[in-house]
Amino acid sequence: MASKSVNAGESSDREVVTRFAPSPTGFLHIGGARTALFNWLFARHHGGKALLRIEDTDRQRSTQDAIDKILEGLDWLGLDYDAPPVFQSDRAERHAEVAYALLEAGHAYKCFATSEELEQMRAEQRAAKQPMRYDRRWRDRESAEMPSDTAFTIRLKVPIEGETVIEDAVQGRVTVNNSEIDDYILLRADGTPTYMLAVVVDDHDMGVTHIIRGDDHLNNAFRQLPIIRAMDRIEGGWPDPVYAHVPLIHGSDGAKLSKRHGAVGVEAYRDDEGILPEALFNYLLRLGWGHGDREEITREDAIALFDLDGVGKSPSRFDIKKLLNLNAHYIRDADTTHLAEIVAKKIGQGAETDLLERAMPVLTPRAKTVNELAESARFLFATRPLEMTDKAAALLDEEARERLSGLSKMLHLQNDWTSDALEATTKSYAEKLDIGLGKLAQPMRAALTGSTMSPGIFDVLVLLGKEESLARIDEQTVPKNR
Ligand code: GLU
Repeated sequence: MASKSVNAGESSDREVVTRFAPSPTGFLHIGGARTALFNWLFARHHGGKALLRIEDTDRQRSTQDAIDKILEGLDWLGLDYDAPPVFQSDRAERHAEVAYALLEAGHAYKCFATSEELEQMRAEQRAAKQPMRYDRRWRDRESAEMPSDTAFTIRLKVPIEGETVIEDAVQGRVTVNNSEIDDYILLRADGTPTYMLAVVVDDHDMGVTHIIRGDDHLNNAFRQLPIIRAMDRIEGGWPDPVYAHVPLIHGSDGAKLSKRHGAVGVEAYRDDEGILPEALFNYLLRLGWGHGDREEITREDAIALFDLDGVGKSPSRFDIKKLLNLNAHYIRDADTTHLAEIVAKKIGQGAETDLLERAMPVLTPRAKTVNELAESARFLFATRPLEMTDKAAALLDEEARERLSGLSKMLHLQNDWTSDALEATTKSYAEKLDIGLGKLAQPMRAALTGSTMSPGIFDVLVLLGKEESLARIDEQTVPKNR
């Protein structure tokens, strides 16, 4: 059959409907999240519908935990859907109905081959170095030849002649000879649908117009289209969808992204790496899609700009450094109240959101991740006696303690507890001792934070407040054995 040449976005006057169709056999990984994002953006860009379908037909491998993780990951990324998720396993009857419609109309046939027969067929093909494929042995048999009491599978009668052409919105024109497509099983002997059938029926029933997915599914499209076209001949109303097969994501070494690359679930980027959803959203968008050389693209701009012609034809490489740079950008831009809440959760017990909110402007310029933020904010909630790193403890020698003790006396008298005023006092004290400011600031930092790294020391004093600051300093200056 000749190709129906349709291009994404201008396919017809139908409302755009996309779907994300994960198999819940593990977490929402980076590749899946990007597929979800592209589908969602395409629907939002065109004012259409974004739908979600959980492909849980493989009951052995699908778990509730995986379903929960996927839903949670999508929600965290801010991808919302226009209808509750469809569960493929609920629809087996409808899938069977379509298999029987194809059977009755002569687009499918019953196959009575036993698994032993098929195994033998494959062994012979292997020995003859032929491609292993069902040899269509039941395709043209009369019904009189068919046993009446034996279980059968229903196979699709794929056209043998001609070729199938797909105008893929990303890959361009792809042609496959129909002779290469096997008469695969639609309905198993136990009456359950195969994945290939279920996908097609669900996409049709959900009104999906654009199928955006990984290019590992391109071969499937050539097997799925014959069902669609046969059903269209039988009852009409089964138009070809627009296909967009997006190249997979590779790791930095150029190999397909896998667990080996640390390519884990979206929640690991949130929890272990401390990535903000805005940053991952932006990063995933740029992973395989581009608009000039723009790197920072907000959600609103993404909706305005996204289309399939910006999707690249070659695999993109996952680059954690780029993700971290974007994350640093979104951390600096984030609403401080919101950020403080996220950081408070990371820190856990003892964290105060108000104090964190005040600290954010001081902490964010130095942090690339939420985890780093939490780490750098921890000193705010430390309890006395402060735990010291070895380096910090080493800074607090006898001389340093004496200097701090003198400074403490001045600071006790200080009423104006602002960064500028505190700086002026500390400077004048350093001048009086005829030492550089660093000679005071470093031991102060150790005493106040227990560490040798922190935001500017005067910001630290302001954030901790007078009482707590002096308590921490005095803890170091007053001999412990007294
Ligand atoms: N459930 C399939 C997967 O997770 C996707 C099927 C499709 O997009 O057509 O790979």
